Amino acid sequence: MSDYKAVIGLEVHAELDTASKIYCGCTTAFGGEENTHVCPICLGLPGALPLLNRKVVEFCIKAGLALNCKINNYSRQDRKHYFYPDLPKSFQTSQLDLPICYDGYLDIEVNGQTKRIGITRIHIEEDAGKLIHGLTGTRVDYNRGATGLIEIVSEPDLTNPDEVYAYMETLRQVLLYTGVSNCKMEEGSLRCDVNVSIHREGEPFGVRTEMKNLNSLSAAKAAAAYEIKRQKQVLAEGGDLFQATLRWDDAKGINYVMRVKEHADEYYYFPEPDIMPIVITPEEVEAIRATLPELPKARQQRYKSQYGLSDYDANILTVSKALSDLFDQAVACEAPAKVCANFIMGDITRLLNEKALQPEEVPFGGKELAELANLISQGAISSSAGSKVVELLFQPEFAGKAPKAIVEEQNLGQVSDQGAIKAMCQQVIDANPKVVEDYRGGKKQAISALVGQVMKASKGKANPAMANQLLEELLNG
Ligand SMILES: [Zn+2]
Repeated sequence: MSDYKAVIGLEVHAELDTASKIYCGCTTAFGGEENTHVCPICLGLPGALPLLNRKVVEFCIKAGLALNCKINNYSRQDRKHYFYPDLPKSFQTSQLDLPICYDGYLDIEVNGQTKRIGITRIHIEEDAGKLIHGLTGTRVDYNRGATGLIEIVSEPDLTNPDEVYAYMETLRQVLLYTGVSNCKMEEGSLRCDVNVSIHREGEPFGVRTEMKNLNSLSAAKAAAAYEIKRQKQVLAEGGDLFQATLRWDDAKGINYVMRVKEHADEYYYFPEPDIMPIVITPEEVEAIRATLPELPKARQQRYKSQYGLSDYDANILTVSKALSDLFDQAVACEAPAKVCANFIMGDITRLLNEKALQPEEVPFGGKELAELANLISQGAISSSAGSKVVELLFQPEFAGKAPKAIVEEQNLGQVSDQGAIKAMCQQVIDANPKVVEDYRGGKKQAISALVGQVMKASKGKANPAMANQLLEELLNG
């Protein structure tokens, strides 16, 4: 049973962050009163003619270039037929054999190892509406209907649930950096279908099952883990697997069979006659390539080589583009990189979490962060006073204030007055005979407890290096 290997492929749907829908001028804004973001085109009323939103094509190319894809210069849309109330036309306008992007890859990192996952294709299509199941029946809301999507299809290169998680996380990061999707999984902007089969090495692939519409990274990972285990168990018990579409119940942690899988030919695909073929010139591709931002992998490398940051720091800093941008802005103002990185990974991240804010909502910019980091590195304030300044900067009444002004106003400047600190050191020594005894008995690290006491007595304002030195002098003198 244990010699079975899992083969996993992912189909990720990302709602594009265009202002209007894919074939009409209706807004793509999330929510809104039911069926108010609609028109005859996105409702598929007879006689309404779609016009392809070129921004959708542009975003698809941008995502494709960020994922190392080739771009088809000639592409086309096709109708994919299925009957379901969330699709008013009874077909979804998608792409069959001529997707916009093909043959790319994404490098992911799992347990310190880099693995290259093939991207088979990326195509554009329209989203469906939403069914709302209530006590009195089911309603349909077409506000989301015909929002532009890209579907990113991976090669079946993934082999375990950890890789599924890493792939989704890395892909999400790339899409956020390029700005093609807001990737809000809780709003359904990023969803994935997970295909799983198992087989023995050297044997053909096994029967594949598909889990639809997983809307969190952890759900995708858990569903894959469950399905691999289930398939192994069925085969171990001498049973047969059958091709099926499954629904993952995240609360219960199990898969249900939704339907036995239909084949592609049951969708009766045919070329969309109402939309012109999509022609993409090499010049257009190059113009879009020129707008690509620096991607997370490249940024991590730069942070390590240019600023000497560790792997760990570089990875954490680039998780969010907004925080990474803040770091770049600060170091561009000639601030010490490591001090800026520590503020972002420490106090700033903590305060964002405490106040339930998004990384985009840090209430100050790189200039303020740079000024603060410089105050620390010049010894003008202690690091605990630095934390205090960040906390104040997050409060509305200090918005827009310069850190230097806050330090003066709040009297947070570091005390480097040797006489004052020396007096405090003597008080601390007198008050802590046990620690002093430990220190003199050879436990040299006991001095940090005394430095801590001096910092406390000075309300965080003493220069800790000076306190340390003066304590040593007093204790050894
Ligand atoms: Zn519309």
